[in-house]
This record gives sequence, structure tokens and C-alpha cells, in this order.
Amino acid sequence: MTETLQFTRQLSDHRVSAEQRAAILADPGFGNYFTDHTAVVDYKVDAAGIGGWSNARVEPYGPILMDPAAAVLHYGQEIFEGMKAYRHADGSVWTFRPEANAVRFNKSAVRLALPELPEGVFVDSLRELVAVDKDWIPSGDGAALYLRPFMIATEAFLGVRPAREVSYRVIASPAGNYFGGELKPVPIWLSTRYARAGHGGTGEAKCGGNYAASLAAQLEAEAHGCKQVLFLDPTNDNAVEELGGMNIFFVFADGTLVTPELNGNILHGVTRSSIIQLAKDRGLQVQERKITIDEWREGIAGGRIAEVFACGTAAVITPIGELKTEDGSMVSPPLGADAVCMSIRRQLLGIQTGVEEDIHGWLTRLA
Ligand SMILES: *Cc1c(COP(=O)(O)O)cnc(C)c1O
Repeated sequence: MTETLQFTRQLSDHRVSAEQRAAILADPGFGNYFTDHTAVVDYKVDAAGIGGWSNARVEPYGPILMDPAAAVLHYGQEIFEGMKAYRHADGSVWTFRPEANAVRFNKSAVRLALPELPEGVFVDSLRELVAVDKDWIPSGDGAALYLRPFMIATEAFLGVRPAREVSYRVIASPAGNYFGGELKPVPIWLSTRYARAGHGGTGEAKCGGNYAASLAAQLEAEAHGCKQVLFLDPTNDNAVEELGGMNIFFVFADGTLVTPELNGNILHGVTRSSIIQLAKDRGLQVQERKITIDEWREGIAGGRIAEVFACGTAAVITPIGELKTEDGSMVSPPLGADAVCMSIRRQLLGIQTGVEEDIHGWLTRLA
């Protein structure tokens, strides 16, 4: 789909003073503050049963007026995306592989019986929002403007069928260095009580429901001193799937990278696919295959697994120092100065922030 729409602009006053904004940008954390505007496109199915997108606009940020019977509030018909806009040293603003997010957004839309959005409209909506809110892009090390496109079923109707009125929106939130300052390996919790996805379910769609379903496991994790949860596929020899919102990689002692194959349960991470490419560029072997929790345990015990890390847009690459489980813990070896995950992380972040060459043409200019 290459269809485009013209966005109109209704601009607001700044919601906070320049001094308040500067204070926020100095230490934004993640997901706490939002910019002055939002991009919106409406979708409606007409009396003849033909659906179409219209009324593309940038408007002031604020609450959404919605009927209490709106389908999203009852049946969770919702999808989202997550990406970042980076300010480069020359002041220009770029985002990373937005076409890949647009394609994934439409894959999620099909699974949740929501309408597909033309890819051009998806990328334009980011550009339109960033154009009016670029004062909100932080410039600290590892900082960026987090962009959150999402689509919700707004039709007021309690019958169970795909909604005929839908709203697509983008909000933006300044984000600091995800882990603040230094990057140290994190412990994660192995959930054996809960699964994240099932075969034929919504595991590879980026939908709110998957996150709602992961929260009980996250509470369990927090009770064990962990912020993130690893999920397995109990119907497939306890194959490792992914974390609640990040994909996972193993670096073997011989330099081979192993990551779970995309089997329908796992999210097609843009960071995951970029790491695979950068590893291959370095001549490393990459295997997308099933890896079970037993192979992980034996790999750690036998010294075959050298590094374990998680990846996603928010935190880029996070080394996993320890997997805590109901019956004991598996501790990863300490990371050496030449750790593969840290080197790939530097390169990937360098491409995104404009200090490393964009050899694959992954960047798109937004402003
Ligand atoms: C968004 C997400 C990821 C990471 O995807 P990226 O495109 O790399 O940000 C991984 N797993 C889940 C479940 C996600 O929702």
C-alpha cells in the first residue's frame, strides 16, 4: 500500500514552560512525560461496507473522548508499535527502519482484525508529529524521543465482531538512557506458571493483550528481585521464547549466536533482525533455532554459553546476568571487555545516533 493522506495541523500552546521542559529532558526516565501533540487518523466502514482512512491530523495532546461501549474497552481490540527518533550532532532527526515497523503493524492489524494502515501514512504520521514536537527530543547520551503508534477499536457496540470505527494515533515520550548511566547485567525471572503465547494465538502480534497477560508473571518476577520475565513454550520441550517485551540471544563460546526461531509465538523484533545482520557482517555464525531451557542450563554448566542478552527498541541490548528459577539460578559468565553483545550494542546505537556508518541504509530522516 502506498496511499498517502494530507495531514492538517491544529497546534496547541506548549503544555509546560521551556524551563519545565528542559528539566524533564534532563532526566526523562521512560514513559513518564508526553509531548504537546498527537497525530490521529480515523477509519470508518461506510453503509456500503467499504472501509477507509480519513481526517489525518496533528492535534493538541489530551484525553480521548470515547463512548463507554467502545470495543477496545471491552474486548481489547488494540495494537501498537514502539520506535525512537534520535537527534544527530548536526541537529537532524532520524528514526530506525520505520518501514519494518509499518509492516509489522499491519501484520498485527490482520491478526487483531483491525484495518491495515498504508505504510506511507504510518511513516508520514511520525514525521508530522516530530515536526511540531521536535523541541521534546532529548540529546543526552542514549536518549531519544520514544514514538508510540497505536490503533484502537472505537465503535460503540458490545456484539463480538471487528469494529467498524477505529482510530490510529501516535504519541511521543522523551526517553533517557533506559538503565540510567552504566549498563550492567540484569537478573531475569523464569516463569513456569504462566505462558506468554500459545500456538495459533497472538504471540507474534504487538497487542496490548499480550502485555496484560504478562503482568501476573511480572509481579512474580518482582517478588524475586527481577524486573523482566522469560517465557517458555511448555508444549515444546520448554523451548525458550522471549521476555515480556524483548527477544533473547545466546552467544556460544565459539562465537555462534543462537536466537529462538520465529515460530508464530515470538515477536519479530526489529532489533533482533538488525543484530542478526550485524553479527553476519562480522562473519559470525547465526542460528535461528529451537533452544530449550535444558540446553541453556547445560550450556552454562559446561562453559559452552558465554553470553546471554535481551534486545528491543527501548533498551537496545541488555546483558542477562542471571536466570532465577523456582529451583535455583543459572548465572552467566562475567562479560569480558571483548563481549560480543557490548560490541554489537555500540555499533547499533552508533548507527542510530549517527556516529557509526549506516551501512545498511536503516535510517530515515524525520526532520
Ligand atoms: C516490541 C517487542 C519486542 C522488541 O521488538 P523491537 O522491534 O526490537 O523493539 C520483543 N518482544 C515483544 C513481545 C515485543 O512486544
